[in-house]
Amino acid sequence: MAGRDSVEPKRSAKNRRGSTESRPTRDDTSSAQLLVVDHPIVAAGLSILRDKTSTPDLFRRHLQEIAIVLLTEASRGWGTAPIEVQTPLASCAGAVLAKPVVLVPILRAGLGLLDGIMRILPDASIGHIGLYRDAETLRPVSYFDRLPVNIAAAQVLLLDPMLATGHTACEAASILKTHGALNIQLLCVLACPPGVQQFQSEHPDVPIITAAVDPELNEFGYIVPGLGDAGDRYFGTG
Ligand code: URA
Repeated sequence: MAGRDSVEPKRSAKNRRGSTESRPTRDDTSSAQLLVVDHPIVAAGLSILRDKTSTPDLFRRHLQEIAIVLLTEASRGWGTAPIEVQTPLASCAGAVLAKPVVLVPILRAGLGLLDGIMRILPDASIGHIGLYRDAETLRPVSYFDRLPVNIAAAQVLLLDPMLATGHTACEAASILKTHGALNIQLLCVLACPPGVQQFQSEHPDVPIITAAVDPELNEFGYIVPGLGDAGDRYFGTG
């Protein structure tokens, strides 16, 4: 675990046999929450995403696969409501998700996390937020949002593979809150310390779930070592 105020990248613990022990690690730094999903499938998939020779097809498949594992960890604390289920033999107690789920990809790269998650949550509503970075101010400017009406009652998953400066995710979370969202989680694949700090300072109530925290951000706002431009690599536009 990282220290109380630290968002240092985490290393996997080695067990006594010398193999890597994988588990989610949760940082509950005061009200701020950062969950780094340390899982073998995520680690292997992330290495394929990082590899500059991976084709868009490979990149897409592994981004979707990672999104499913991240969703599994993000949803661990979601409430369920009891239902009765009739099996072929008897009736028994079952469960449904207590809240509707709203998925909100930040355009464009957030779409890369959507397909895998939709396979697990086919009934989820989907909102969209479009933001671009103003060339002079370097601040995100909203150009599009379309969000479901039930957002206040929903569990909202904000999707963006890269938490770089944090400004885009902060703006998107603010837009969600303006529309009434109360229960938001941010799902990303790679974060970096400045992005985590920025997001947690503006939205300490919104947990971040990520596959890894990389050490730094370069002068162009790219995460290093990172994986490059996630949107370009997913859509093959690089
Ligand atoms: N967005 C990306 O796609 N990659 C980065 O490294 C940072 C932001």
